[in-house]
Amino acid sequence: MEVLDSLVIGAGQAGLSASYHLRRRGLTHVVLDADAAPGGAWQHRWDSLTMHDVHGIAELPDADPPTDRAGRANVAVPAYFAAYEREHGLPVLRPVRVDAVTAGEDGLLVTRAGERTWTSRTLVNATGTWSQPFVPRYPGMDTFLGEQLHTHDYPGPEHFRGRRVVVVGGGASAVQFLGELAPVTDTLWVTRREPVWRTDDFTPEAGRAAVALVEDRVRRGLPPASVVSVTGLALRPQEREAERRGAYRRHPMFVAVEPDGVRMADGSFERADAILWATGFRPAVTHLAPLRLRSAAGGIALDGTTAVADRRVQLVGYGPSASTIGANRAGRAAARGVARWLSEDAPDPPGGQTAATSRSSPSRSGRSAGSTSSPVRT
Ligand code: FAD
Repeated sequence: MEVLDSLVIGAGQAGLSASYHLRRRGLTHVVLDADAAPGGAWQHRWDSLTMHDVHGIAELPDADPPTDRAGRANVAVPAYFAAYEREHGLPVLRPVRVDAVTAGEDGLLVTRAGERTWTSRTLVNATGTWSQPFVPRYPGMDTFLGEQLHTHDYPGPEHFRGRRVVVVGGGASAVQFLGELAPVTDTLWVTRREPVWRTDDFTPEAGRAAVALVEDRVRRGLPPASVVSVTGLALRPQEREAERRGAYRRHPMFVAVEPDGVRMADGSFERADAILWATGFRPAVTHLAPLRLRSAAGGIALDGTTAVADRRVQLVGYGPSASTIGANRAGRAAARGVARWLSEDAPDPPGGQTAATSRSSPSRSGRSAGSTSSPVRT
């Protein structure tokens, strides 16, 4: 049985960054990715999201930024990731959807995907949020006769032309959807809380302070808030027409859904042909449940990128690192955390061998970093 130094789950920005840094440190690993093709969540984003619309894609480690500055994000970013994987020879296996990670014998971790298993000393989880769209429950939702969609399935503005759309949610996606929809149809924006607009004095320091707030939540084991929920919202030039049409006049959240629309808290009724739930995503971590990482506060407490409940496990792209730049940095921190565990923290295995001699440190084993030599167990 080959025991890998680490196993990375997910090949988005966070997983690729982690793999790059693990390899630089000469640590054996594979990257298991559920998608059939490179690109992480970016390959699934809607066609109308262009590179011009995104808030900036940070370059992967030791690479130039994406060169396509205008094309579709769901084409440009996957092409960028694919080239990166190829050029760096990263050991990505796909499509492999991990079902569960369990604590095996001798302090090892066992990762299972269908009939296959891998054994590793540490784990870097980089599974993002895209597979866990979140839709809150409201009374009467099931009686609605129109269409209900989540950001995950947003088909672009033309789909809604001429139909009245209620856009739910106070994040960047809702702002963008309203910018696209208001010129082609009638919209109503509802949010639970008054949206926080970014002011002109939003500096990099203010951005860092905002990210620190999310970091603090995660350190305390609370469910992570999205970074934008603390950085605030901003309108871009392409959203000015929607603004002129009044699309960003926010209404308080409705209290119930009815067959033809939504009932507002003041008793008034708003007709709707479609409800677009831009209500975010949750971390895709159900496969980690057997490791019991969750704190009583409902989230996974992290010390940097290291899970407090099990220091063999690193979480990247989680909470404060859920942005492309954050994911990059987290990948490096995770590789450092893995190396630290392998060299210092791992308890001695039973049977008299010291942890140091039993470990497959590449300098001892001579294996090349990211070796894919039969790590797959069937
Ligand atoms: P992902 O890109 O989601 O990759 C996760 C990978 O894990 C996927 O390939 C998936 O197949 C795989 N996976 C999931 N579950 C499993 C499993 N069980 N087994 C195996 N593999 C699994 N950030 C910015 O910096 N700039 C922006 O402009 C920006 N725009 C955004 C727009 C939207 C609509 C959203 C939702 C986010 C945006 N972000 C942006 C945030 C940013 O996209 C992510 O934080 C960033 O890409 C981090 O990616 P990731 O690697 O954590 O996850």
